[in-house]
Amino acid sequence: MPRIFAYIVHRAGVADDSAAELVAAAKKIDATAVPTAILTGWGPELDAACSSVTSSFGEIWKIANQALAYPNAELVRQALVRVLPPGSIVLVPHDHFGIDLSPGLSIKLNSAFASDVLAVDGVEGSSLKLVRQELGGQVSTHVRCDISSGAVINIRPGAFKPGPSIVASGIITDKSSEVGAPTARRRYLETIVAEAGDVDITKHSVLVSIGRGIQEKDNVALAEALAEVLGAAVSCSRPVVDAKWMEKSRQVGSSGKTVKPKVYLACGISGAFQHLAGIKGSPFLIAINKNPKAPIFQVADVGIVDDLLEFLPELTNKARELRGVAAK
Ligand SMILES: Cc1cc2nc3c(=O)[nH]c(=O)nc-3n(C[C@H](O)[C@H](O)[C@H](O)COP(=O)(O)OP(=O)(O)OC[C@H]3O[C@@H](n4cnc5c(N)ncnc54)[C@H](O)[C@@H]3O)c2cc1C
Repeated sequence: MPRIFAYIVHRAGVADDSAAELVAAAKKIDATAVPTAILTGWGPELDAACSSVTSSFGEIWKIANQALAYPNAELVRQALVRVLPPGSIVLVPHDHFGIDLSPGLSIKLNSAFASDVLAVDGVEGSSLKLVRQELGGQVSTHVRCDISSGAVINIRPGAFKPGPSIVASGIITDKSSEVGAPTARRRYLETIVAEAGDVDITKHSVLVSIGRGIQEKDNVALAEALAEVLGAAVSCSRPVVDAKWMEKSRQVGSSGKTVKPKVYLACGISGAFQHLAGIKGSPFLIAINKNPKAPIFQVADVGIVDDLLEFLPELTNKARELRGVAAK
């Protein structure tokens, strides 16, 4: 079995939760694998991020370079190409950065590429059997990926639940001198932090999140009523913001907020990766959707196939009853 690497996204000295998901995915590919983490960046934050994953990875390859201080897939790609051994399997989170990084990386490495992978069906000879989704999640496709020359595989956020962390030796190896001076035609300009808004959804441990399935603005009140009983906040998917049913500050996802609740109730949300990318910390995910084939059910802990316009009021009444709250 080829050596498995995991590209670790980190911020402010802490590895992203996707690091643990990549370990879980590596274990599905090879149960005996102790994957190697690769972290790129610069300064004390990179050192801290490397230290934060030592118990999960056998080895951590640190690539420190001032040019890598800010996210730039072109530069990271060059650095990775210089250090990765031929035939490696490289796992990358399927987020915006990963989507930018990975296809070109697989071309440079002359290896296979599979995007938005949500399950591993095993290995047969030199074929890695993967499940991915196409047509916006309408169909699941079972693909065989020839890994004889290695592969770059993008892992869907939330699809691989982290198991007990591997107790690993966690040796940090400095690979910085091997990358030379990467150059890029694009350059980092600035990071714009989104406004918190009236309710800061990043601070809540329970989120009632609504998607296009809520159907119209007046129905948002159904989610608000449930959230009130549960002591939760209401968040949403992007179409809800685009339709001006909720403020942008409530949007979860790659172009919205990153949330880390304990419980996430996805109501009428299909489960696009751009939405899932904003849900961190492997919360207990309950999905309510009238389409039993909705991709959200692939990552949900509990799935309820029902019309949410009928289900939400029922759930709110039940929650009121259990909590002894009078109906309004
Ligand atoms: C660059 C880019 C960035 C993006 N960033 C984000 C982002 O940050 N956040 C984000 O959310 N999206 C983002 N998107 C959009 C994303 O691709 C999806 O289009 C979006 O997440 C879909 O939202 P949804 O699940 O609410 O709607 P849909 O995909 O339309 O799903 C609606 C769901 O509701 C269900 N439904 C309908 N009626 C009912 C009912 N009565 N009861 C129960 N279920 C019902 C349907 O079965 C369906 O599964 C981005 C897209 C791009 C291209």
